[in-house]
This record gives sequence, C-alpha cells and structure tokens, in this order.
Amino acid sequence: MRAGVLGGTFDPPHLAHLAIGAAAKQALHLDRVLFVPAGDPWRKAGREVSPASVRLRMLRAALEPLPWAEISAIEVDRPGPSYSADTMEELARESARGADWWFIVGDDALTDLPNWHEPERLLAAARLALVWRPPGDPIIPGEVRTRFADIEARLDVVPMPPLDVSSTALRERVRSGRATSILLPEGVRTVVDELGLYR
Ligand code: ATP
Repeated sequence: MRAGVLGGTFDPPHLAHLAIGAAAKQALHLDRVLFVPAGDPWRKAGREVSPASVRLRMLRAALEPLPWAEISAIEVDRPGPSYSADTMEELARESARGADWWFIVGDDALTDLPNWHEPERLLAAARLALVWRPPGDPIIPGEVRTRFADIEARLDVVPMPPLDVSSTALRERVRSGRATSILLPEGVRTVVDELGLYR
C-alpha cells in the first residue's frame, strides 16, 4: 500500500491542492491520498484561521467530485498544536505493515521544514513528495541540506506545472467581491457564501 498525505490549513481548499493530490497520486502510483487539515495550524499563529469544522466542511465539498481523495480528521481530533511528525507516526503505526507513506510538500513547505516541530521524526516516518515545476531538478535550500544530510535520499519529485493560486489570494478575492472562477471549487464557494466567510 502506497499512501500520500497532503497536510494544510485549507482555508479555503483550492485548485492547487486538488492538483497536488492528483499529481502525487499519478507520479508515485499512490493507492491512497489523504488530505489532512491542521486542527491547530501553529505555523500560521498570529493570523485569523477559520474554525476546523468549517475548514473540514470546505474540504469535503472540494473533494466530493474526486473518488480517490480521502480526508483524515486526525489533526482536528488531536488536541494541541498539529505537528506533522505526530500525524505521520500515527498514520504509519495504524496502517498495514509494509505500507509506504509520503508526506507531500510544496517548495515553500520544504524551505520551512527546519522550523517544523521535530522534522527528523517526520522524515523517519515518511518519505517527502516534493511538488516541483518541470523542467530541471529541484533546488533544495542550503539550510535544509545542512540540517538533513540525507534529504535527497528521502525525497521523490512530483512534477506539476506552477499554479498561481493560494488560499490567501482567494480570501482576498472573496473579501473584495472579485470572481474566484475555477480556482475555488464550486462546492467550496457555496460554503464560503453560505457562511459569509472572508468578508
Ligand atoms: P495560505 O495562502 O493561507 O498560506 P496555501 O494556499 O499555501 O495557504 P495551505 O493549506 O497552507 O494553502 O497549503 C497546503 C499545502 O499546499 C502546502 O504544502 C503548500 O506548499 C501547498 N500549496 C498551496 N498552494 C500551492 C500552489 N499554488 N502550488 C504548489 N503548492 C501549493
């Protein structure tokens, strides 16, 4: 069994999140792709984040058309800051023996890795799937290489063309009354409008 985990705040979930899951599934021949919303996204402390229940609802709406995509509420259900190392250890422990796990990251998340909580534990529990725009090999930041000497051996590349979309930009679009077109899945937009989010 080969499984990938895409952790995120998903406030809101958007087209790039879906594309990342699809690209990882294809590139790594994953049997399972789990989207894992952070219960307490401690790396985004100091800014307002929608309640976990709302982000879960949006994620369900986003993934509804994708039969291969799963949601795990493991971080929402676990009290305290959502550490990816805890999540990956727990998922790996609970899954069948012989399962291979990947933790999917964009290049911004890879750059931030040294600042995560006990990233060595994360790297011991899962390989990294690095979403990288082709062509060319990924650029691994110096700080990441220094801290994790074997990082290249622990990493697989998931090619994906760049998609200029972020939750931040979408929140701003909603706030200023601009269209969100296909960047924000239709079902998610419905939830956003129903709850009056990001105004
Ligand atoms: P925000 O703008 O609120 O910081 P975000 O759009 O980066 O949010 P997250 O939920 O924080 O979304 O992201 C989850 C994961 O998706 C992270 O690993 C992030 O690197 C990746 N990701 C988000 N948007 C993109 C994108 N456009 N291209 C590649 N990776 C992305």
